[in-house]
Amino acid sequence: MALDLAILTIGDELLSGEISDTNTRRIAGHLASRGWRIAEARTVADRNADIAQALITMAGERDAVIVTGGLGPTEDDRTARAAAEAFALRLTPSNEALVQIRAYFEERGRVMAPANEKQALLPKGTEVLPNSCGTAPGFSLNYGDTLFYFLPGVPIEMETMLLEQVLPRVQQKFPKAAALRERHIRIFGLSEPKVEELLTSRPMPPGIELGFGVDYPLVIVKLRGSDEALLDRMAANVERLLARFVAARGDQSPAAYMGELLRGKGKRLALAESCTGGLIAQMITDAPGASDYFIGAAVTYHNKAKQAWLGVPPELLDTHGAVSAPCAEAMALGMLRTSGADLALAVTGIAGPDGGSEEKPVGTVFIALACRGGDPVRVQQFEFGGDRHKVRRMTAHMAIDWVRQNLLQS
Ligand code: ATP
Repeated sequence: MALDLAILTIGDELLSGEISDTNTRRIAGHLASRGWRIAEARTVADRNADIAQALITMAGERDAVIVTGGLGPTEDDRTARAAAEAFALRLTPSNEALVQIRAYFEERGRVMAPANEKQALLPKGTEVLPNSCGTAPGFSLNYGDTLFYFLPGVPIEMETMLLEQVLPRVQQKFPKAAALRERHIRIFGLSEPKVEELLTSRPMPPGIELGFGVDYPLVIVKLRGSDEALLDRMAANVERLLARFVAARGDQSPAAYMGELLRGKGKRLALAESCTGGLIAQMITDAPGASDYFIGAAVTYHNKAKQAWLGVPPELLDTHGAVSAPCAEAMALGMLRTSGADLALAVTGIAGPDGGSEEKPVGTVFIALACRGGDPVRVQQFEFGGDRHKVRRMTAHMAIDWVRQNLLQS
């Protein structure tokens, strides 16, 4: 049985654009990490009628609803009253809640304001949920087959109570709830429609949902299901089908996967970056332990740096320009020579918005890869579309892909 869960966030400021609803994101994230997916998330204003209406509708539809906000001591905190109205319960002072609120103030040597007593007014028959880092206790109640958990809106209080109070209770109430798991496969070099076309030509078996996402320029294939072994088999099928386009799997980045291959082959890489300004080096060093296979990068943005650090001849720059195949090649060879690496990758291009010409428009990029052992330097020209950010990202991913392909073939 798959759990049908929902979130209800309450607060005028969530609807006026004053604050973003980070509570929904955090709750959904914690639920997803346990394999539970949210069927619905709603936000309503601090109005009794709106809160009550949302609670009544959700009561008929969901297994459990997590509600946040409106438990404070002020007049605009109306959640407990609205819940009492929605479920025809009396609002009564809860001695247990009052003891907890008093204890919170006493432990901190503070005097409790009379307004805080309001926070102990709860719908009759509810279970009090202790709040270890704030004044407002939460509460839970059942209505029909639906469980409701009411938490404060303050994110740290909400999250602490979610982890300490709510999730263990949900787990206990629904011990047989099927956990939905995901497998992610990151694809480089195919558009989203193309990936979809290739994968939907072979339907997934029952119990596996196929989804897609984009993290430019990567396409993420998402497989969801509760049968872990079947998920693994389907993920392996996807990888077989898309073979050389698989840039990474799971939460791994393409740069980390490339690093794993380098480590496995005992090879080391160095970079000469121009238009990417260090972006490729950053992607590589985001993976811990990259010093095992990454020597370093020279960001040779100005011609002077290309000459002085990589030994690119000034005549070459005069004749062909810095954005050219000969320059990319000379940069890669210069880096191979000076770094002692096994592979040296160079990129030079025009990321824009200025600097383009008819012959070399914005988006023109040259990538070169030199390998120790005498293979000829591989160099290629690209014309990438999009703004500066996209050209630089595409260049970095293409460069990483080159190294990966080289390692898979060698
Ligand atoms: P308090 O005791 O502070 O009154 P409360 O349970 O009544 O807590 P709210 O008054 O609704 O909660 O919200 C308190 C603060 O928590 C808000 O001002 C806002 O900064 C933050 N907050 C509330 N809801 C959310 C949400 N969904 N996402 C992010 N922040 C939120």
